[in-house]
Amino acid sequence: MNQLSPMLMPYVDRDVPHAVLEVNQKCNIVCRACYKHKRNETKSIEQLRKEVDFLASMRNLNAMTLAGGEPVLHPELPEIIRYISSKGIMVQMLSNGQALSDELLEEYREAGLKEIFLHIDSLQTRADFGPVEKEVELNPLRRKIAEKVTSHGIVCSLELTLYQRTLPELSEIVHFVMDEPLLYRLLITCCNDFGRVVRTFDGGDVLGLRYPPLHQEESGGGDEFLDAQSVTNQEVEEVLAEAGMTPFAYVASNRSEKEKRWLFYYSFVIRSSRGWSKKLHFSPRFGNIVRLAYRNARKKGRPYAFASIYGEFKSVLMCLLYGIGSGHPGVLIGALTFLVHRLRPGARIHHKSLTFQQGPTVASDGQIEHCRSCPDATLRDGKLVPVCMVDFFYPPAQQAEED
Ligand code: SF4
Repeated sequence: MNQLSPMLMPYVDRDVPHAVLEVNQKCNIVCRACYKHKRNETKSIEQLRKEVDFLASMRNLNAMTLAGGEPVLHPELPEIIRYISSKGIMVQMLSNGQALSDELLEEYREAGLKEIFLHIDSLQTRADFGPVEKEVELNPLRRKIAEKVTSHGIVCSLELTLYQRTLPELSEIVHFVMDEPLLYRLLITCCNDFGRVVRTFDGGDVLGLRYPPLHQEESGGGDEFLDAQSVTNQEVEEVLAEAGMTPFAYVASNRSEKEKRWLFYYSFVIRSSRGWSKKLHFSPRFGNIVRLAYRNARKKGRPYAFASIYGEFKSVLMCLLYGIGSGHPGVLIGALTFLVHRLRPGARIHHKSLTFQQGPTVASDGQIEHCRSCPDATLRDGKLVPVCMVDFFYPPAQQAEED
């Protein structure tokens, strides 16, 4: 493998360290690219416990993400967080943040919630902010909720959908996360017409399950807005390359090891209260360390550390490991030079992890091409299904009968 190509994430099937637990369908805002059917459904604790057990039996999980709807609207969320944590699985949650109160956050933290991904973007309709033209206008709201989340000892990250309309703002969004000490990760889902993908494929396998073709005429065609606003990871890579950033790893598609469906970027920022900051963007040479960590975890039967959270000490260690493990004197010198800034008065080091996800497409042979082993698989009807397609494969009427 070319040393400077991003590393192909090796986990497949049982080794995939992450899954999504959908706790409800109910939501309190509208997202333009939402792929959920948003019925007024809330799963019982008994059902959720069973789903957690099932997901944990299907995958060697390091982390599980609570999703909805809006998970905060589930009245017994702390209990389910406690249950997942008791299994040694890190709990993360997707939330639009609108209903997050100090009381709830305290309960979630006590129950073991480690991280909240705040989904806030400019194509949402929400009660706590009016319509905006630009992503940057949402930064005060993002900051305000991030302050509340982190004040309870929960790590806060930003999640958003990237549209063609907002692609020109990608660099600004990345800079905002890099420069904002309250935000840990950036998770971006590229806009995609998920419904059209499911409705236009010819029938076939998705995550080892066979689905019949779903008839196009029932769908009334695709969503023209989402089609026109779809973004690819290739476009993302091009924008970030201009900022000197390269993904160190990627998740391939189920059809081709070369097709990048998730992109992973790692950076560290040293910032001082005096106003200066320095950045270190990891290159694909970091893949050497990831490969070793993965092999080591596998040998010990442990999950791959999918959702690690690095404090100050581990951040310094990671930069050192990157420099040493790169096998390249220039990279090592760069990492050491960067770390020297940590010794300056008032300096702090922060980890920034950026992940981009490109949704499924229909290949020329009529089959769905999706992320390999779908790291965001969820449970439906006792089977693993990609969360982005689950409500299209199991539309409400059919699901109601099954429930
Ligand atoms: S296939 Fe899985 S990982 Fe890929 S976008 Fe859909 S849910 Fe996410």
